[in-house]
Amino acid sequence: MSKVRVRFAPSPTGPLHIGGVRTALFNYLFAKKNEGDFIVRIEDTDQTRYVKGAEDYIVETLNWCNIPFDEGPGKPGDVGPYRQSERKDLYAKYADKLLESGNAYYAFDTAEELTTHRKNHEAKGKTFIYNWHNRLKLSNSLALSKEEVQKKLADKEPYVIRFKSPENEALKMYDEIRGEIDIDTNILDDKVLFKSDGMPTYHLANIVDDHLMKISHVIRGEEWLPSMPLHVLLYKAFGWETPKFAHLPLILKPTGKGKLSKRDGDKMGFPVFPLEWKDPNSGDIASGYREEGYLPEAVMNMLAFLGWNEGEGSEKEIYSLD
Ligand code: GLU
Repeated sequence: MSKVRVRFAPSPTGPLHIGGVRTALFNYLFAKKNEGDFIVRIEDTDQTRYVKGAEDYIVETLNWCNIPFDEGPGKPGDVGPYRQSERKDLYAKYADKLLESGNAYYAFDTAEELTTHRKNHEAKGKTFIYNWHNRLKLSNSLALSKEEVQKKLADKEPYVIRFKSPENEALKMYDEIRGEIDIDTNILDDKVLFKSDGMPTYHLANIVDDHLMKISHVIRGEEWLPSMPLHVLLYKAFGWETPKFAHLPLILKPTGKGKLSKRDGDKMGFPVFPLEWKDPNSGDIASGYREEGYLPEAVMNMLAFLGWNEGEGSEKEIYSLD
């Protein structure tokens, strides 16, 4: 078996909450148990959702939790997070590869045109899906002549690059936690891979990096399960080996209804954040486990026990990271 390599890949869109720390912890423990590597990758290609201070917060949190990284983008031996914004020139090349192989196409539709299509469908009681059902009625390189496309590109008309999702395919996937998952590709949208601002979307950058960084297991929160079909299809389209996927159940609210959110803590009287967070826009302060006086060892122990135990008969309640 190839070396186990896992990653924790947060987007700096706000402070990491305790659910994110749990994902990092599971990845770290899985790497260490299998003599593998644990890397951290900041997924910061979406400039519109970037929150100042969030990246520092993530790194400080992992340090406080005693979860070390195994490598980084600098000289060998330097450890630290990779940053997608520092790798952005790379992704365009891979978008081009998909265009060349016919797995992606240019789409020139404006936001207004898409809204009109959506509304027309809704008026007929149908859901609009941007895929083979509708592709040829829209403004994209599959529906236009080569000359029209060349002209639009030469005229610098704004475009995005979309993935061409397959027609009528029964896709079989495997998740280490959920088991076999079958889906019909006709329900998939042709997702945007590359945006008009010259930046990749999460999907493209995530797949390219997981491949180039030789990630063997993608262990992440269950909210990413709906992205798995696209990700598996992207690996196929590139002709790359697919890593193993494990989608972790999320931490729920104490009522058991809905996932724990950033707002629950203050309402229910417990911290949701590992460290105190000062919102850069509102100036609001949300309390953190560190400032409340919890020891990181205790927080890690609590997280390990959410959704896991050593099995029947085990009385052991206190574990160290080791
Ligand atoms: N950047 C995504 C996030 O913020 C990563 C999801 C993944 O691990 O693939 O959670």
